[in-house]
Amino acid sequence: PFDVLVVGGGPAGSSAAIYAARKGIRTGIVAERFGGQVQDTLGIENFITTTYTEGPKLVANMEEHVREYEVDIMNSMRAKSLTKNDLFELELENGATLKSKTVVISTGARWRNIGVPGEAEYKNKGVAYCPHCDGPIFAGKDVAVIGGGNSGVEAAIDLAGIVNHVTVIEYAAELKADSVLQDRLKSLPNVTVLTNAKTEEIYGSDKVEGLRYLDLDSGDAKEITLAGVFVQIGLVPNTEWLQGTVEMNKFGEIIVDSHGTSSIPGVFAAGDCTNSAYKQIIISMGSGATASLGAFDHLIRN
Ligand code: FAD
Repeated sequence: PFDVLVVGGGPAGSSAAIYAARKGIRTGIVAERFGGQVQDTLGIENFITTTYTEGPKLVANMEEHVREYEVDIMNSMRAKSLTKNDLFELELENGATLKSKTVVISTGARWRNIGVPGEAEYKNKGVAYCPHCDGPIFAGKDVAVIGGGNSGVEAAIDLAGIVNHVTVIEYAAELKADSVLQDRLKSLPNVTVLTNAKTEEIYGSDKVEGLRYLDLDSGDAKEITLAGVFVQIGLVPNTEWLQGTVEMNKFGEIIVDSHGTSSIPGVFAAGDCTNSAYKQIIISMGSGATASLGAFDHLIRN
């Protein structure tokens, strides 16, 4: 059996695997797709020590670093369930079962897509999901934020300080964000809020040029000229396969303590699949290290 079995091969899982392997204990990493969300990222400018890198390059660096150690990398394999007998048993979609004394879950998250024409086509060409990551690309330009919940309104406030103008587009009749955020938003001179607005299409040529929406009050089709569209309708943790095992919050994020411990002793979690306050590469790597050290601590005490 493994001493530490890491589930997920993004920044959190890679970091957890390296920290475990450096303790000289048997370490495995199971990943549906090694690299995770970083594989889908174009430019990365906030990974400290590296002024600019690109997702696939950072993933190659991550994999090279993991391969420096005796880590059993099982790529293209999806975990299906986690149970405990004497040891933890991780069942995979392919029918295999892996056994381990401790488990670090780092299965990440995915942005909820709006699913309109143009969204997939213009991803990384004006369609963005992360204001902390991609905001500065749109400095001085006009952008829209789709979604008037907390994440959408926070994104709009953040972007308003960088871009020329922000249009917030909300499908419902009212914004759903906390009132302090709505007040802050309303105080900004370069923000327009559209409610009862149903986004229908993101259009452009080689990059985004605008957005078409249906004004549900008047029934009229309207359009706005834009350089960027931030889709902020939710981040969904990849934890469906753990329903009924570890404790999660109402968003489906695994609840962890300061040592990365979940509600099950011996099961740790890190990165975007947890209730961490912010979701970033550098934060995931830090929490992956924490969870792995937590697992090591657990092993030497039990
Ligand atoms: P992920 O990267 O999501 O990795 C999850 C891993 O788990 C993957 O290997 C996945 O295949 C695997 N997995 C999922 N389910 C299962 C399962 N059932 N069984 C086995 N394996 C499974 N952050 C920044 O700091 N800077 C940026 O510039 C930046 N830009 C971004 C741009 C885009 C387009 C996106 C989508 C995100 C961006 N982020 C950025 C956020 C950053 O990518 C995430 O915070 C980070 O990747 C989270 O790491 P993670 O390891 O927790 O999860």
